[in-house]
Amino acid sequence: MKDQFSLIIGGQALAGDRGTFKVLNPATEEVLAECPFASPEQVDQAVKAAEEAFKSWQYSSDDERTAALNAIADKFEAHAEELAEIITLEQGKPLDLARFEVGGAVAWTRYTASLEIPVEVIEDSDVRRAELHRKPLGVVGSITPWNWPLMIAIWHVMPAIRTGNTVVVKPSSMTPFNTLRMVELMNEVLPAGVINIVTGEGGIGSSMVKHEGIRKIVFTGSTPTGQNIMRNAADNLKRLTLELGGNDAGIVLPDADIDKLAPAIFQSAFINMGQTCAALKRLYVHDSQYDALVDKLAELARAQKVGPGLDAGVTFGPVQNRDQFELVEALVEDARRNGARIVAGGERVGDRGYFYAPTIVADITDGTRLVDEEQFGPALPVIRYSDVEDAIRRANDNPNGLGGSVWGSDIEQAKQVASRLESGTAWINNHAEVLPHCPFGGCKMSGIGTEFGLDGLLEYTQSQLLNISKG
Ligand code: NAD
Repeated sequence: MKDQFSLIIGGQALAGDRGTFKVLNPATEEVLAECPFASPEQVDQAVKAAEEAFKSWQYSSDDERTAALNAIADKFEAHAEELAEIITLEQGKPLDLARFEVGGAVAWTRYTASLEIPVEVIEDSDVRRAELHRKPLGVVGSITPWNWPLMIAIWHVMPAIRTGNTVVVKPSSMTPFNTLRMVELMNEVLPAGVINIVTGEGGIGSSMVKHEGIRKIVFTGSTPTGQNIMRNAADNLKRLTLELGGNDAGIVLPDADIDKLAPAIFQSAFINMGQTCAALKRLYVHDSQYDALVDKLAELARAQKVGPGLDAGVTFGPVQNRDQFELVEALVEDARRNGARIVAGGERVGDRGYFYAPTIVADITDGTRLVDEEQFGPALPVIRYSDVEDAIRRANDNPNGLGGSVWGSDIEQAKQVASRLESGTAWINNHAEVLPHCPFGGCKMSGIGTEFGLDGLLEYTQSQLLNISKG
């Protein structure tokens, strides 16, 4: 990884007015590199650059935008190893998972490039023709978290640019370098000012949310920050897409083939060391298979090779930062104190880096913090139930509503249970799979709005009705 990065505003590489801040490598707790620290004045400069670029980008043709996104995807492919290494160094995930993230970023970019912005003919009669057109909004502000930093930035910026908007992006201060590199590469393709980047802490995000030149904020992160953004966005009535926290439940039905499904259940809970918004975070298992499934999950947990993401053979990296590590530790300790059984893990690994062993917690129930709160880390509570109706009620008895899953052999029965989950996505015999063509979003406290597919694309547009009189 190179050791110097710059803000990019209006196509220019700039130092941060506030100097730099340190970014740590979570595998060593040592400083990885210094990141430019932008000032609120530089946020303003970035918005002005994006406004200037919008004057012409909004009128660029569909073909031009599609070609630009495909050229960007080519750049990402050509720099895939470099991007993956940056992700592992600052985020912590094993290199193969970082490669998967870069692959996802390329796939989402190409898919977004291929989408067509529809013109809907609502009426074409002797009296009038009514056509619904979609126009870009203006400057879009993107604020991203630290768990899938490159992929989520792509989810935000590609549909914005595809629909003719210009962008100011602010990555998490814990994982800024992959996005700084992403914006550098994008600036090799796009006209100056179409995408700009400012780096800093939450205050920089807040300056963006309050800036009257930004017409929409797309935010992925925690629910409290999302609520704060919604309050601040009210002053100039910004459009919002908020993808927030989740506490996804999975229900294993009595007829589930647990020998076959256990690896998928494990994977969907522990993907990215459990730091995935729509990971499986509470598992409800029927009495009849409870002990057997707990044993299988514990076996899979113990088989993980925990270590630095760049080391060969490592399957499980560190938690990304100290706060998250301490939260996971505190939730597991709270469960232990309240009589839960730690079947695998339940402790730190080594004395350097935020390594926490993949942890399976049994004999635990609702009302315990590890079940009720989002752990966002490598500890899965497994909860016993005897009545499916009761399991559905408990799965829904949570303020979050991002995803949920049902695991069983009778697909019709599984579908009936899945359709009763209060969640934006309900998976059957799967969990946490997101796809560029399938709309994704949360209900209840998990967010507002939709990403992906045509529905997601249109969230970056303002509709305009053309009413053509034939009288
Ligand atoms: P976070 O809310 O702490 O930070 C996210 C981003 O917001 C960072 O860039 C941060 O600097 C910025 N920010 C902080 N305060 C701000 C403010 N007042 N105004 C504007 N911006 C501000 O979240 P995190 O800890 O980085 O991410 C973890 C959380 O994100 C988890 O709750 C997880 O479930 C959620 N998440 C949700 C999804 C989804 O699609 N629903 C995806 C990934 C993560």
